[in-house]
Amino acid sequence: MSALLAAIKPRQRWISLTLQLAVKGEPALIPALAPALMWAKLMWTAQTRAQWLPAGHPNLRVLLSWWEASCRSSGKQLTWANSTGPVQRTILALGRIGWAANSAFQWVDQHGTVLHLGLISPKQIQIKMSMAMQEVHEQNAAVHLGDFGGVNRVYTAHLKQFHDGKTKLSKNATPWERYVAYAAPCKALVTRKELCRMGYDVSPLCPMCQKCEDSVFHRAWECDHPEVAEARSRVAEPDLVRQALNSSEVVAWTTGHVQHPATIYDEAAQATEAGVELLAASGQQMDLSTHVFNYPFVATDGSHYPSDVIEWSRSGWSCVFHG
Ligand SMILES: [Zn+2]
Repeated sequence: MSALLAAIKPRQRWISLTLQLAVKGEPALIPALAPALMWAKLMWTAQTRAQWLPAGHPNLRVLLSWWEASCRSSGKQLTWANSTGPVQRTILALGRIGWAANSAFQWVDQHGTVLHLGLISPKQIQIKMSMAMQEVHEQNAAVHLGDFGGVNRVYTAHLKQFHDGKTKLSKNATPWERYVAYAAPCKALVTRKELCRMGYDVSPLCPMCQKCEDSVFHRAWECDHPEVAEARSRVAEPDLVRQALNSSEVVAWTTGHVQHPATIYDEAAQATEAGVELLAASGQQMDLSTHVFNYPFVATDGSHYPSDVIEWSRSGWSCVFHG
């Protein structure tokens, strides 16, 4: 993993790999999950093209027999070292993202949702796996950062968006500012205090005000050098500065991590809030409970509500009944 991330900046020796993975995302997603992705694809093709399978493609019966033969217990704990064949490695790959296999065609995701391989396309499975992998990294980052307000997962999408120049604020940021905004969440910013700790012969004082010990928190929130204060006032309201100064122990003030919204708000409540409405062609609301649906034609529209918090993105179906 260190080798894979070596080409990605920042690449100082002291950078946290765990934090970097949470912000940058998994660089080896496909290699890490390849056996499981391949199995999902085989099952999908065998199920959806049962009548006209491509030449040489195993059918469902063959795939199930492979699965059963590979899953006969040897009595030993399955590990990457003692695993044999793609099916066992599929099971191990699922474990990496908190998934499990109930059977050859029924998997369970990290939240306990059952996924049927014949009903969900391989592309959708890959998207779900990629989200699960990101979740693992965000959980590891929360552990790495210590007590994170009792929440076991941090949110990093806003940090990545800023670094990629996709937010309003970052569109006008210089490449150096974007770099700092990415290095901070990876704990890759080294101040004089850190240099002293590493044994370098430098003054531990802030190079701007020359009054206090130099740290990321000091520069971001405390330093009263006119240039620093002016730069701070451009991006932070006085009230936010006061909050930071009153809770300097909170790591988020120097790394930019926040609690993941999906861990704070109830996901299920979000999903069911919208409900169903029945409207006449004139736009007038009609009684859904007593309406009889005996229309010859129905047209559907898969409208989509995207959200920066990917867990909150929703698909909404609008149906038009003709006649
Ligand atoms: Zn200072």
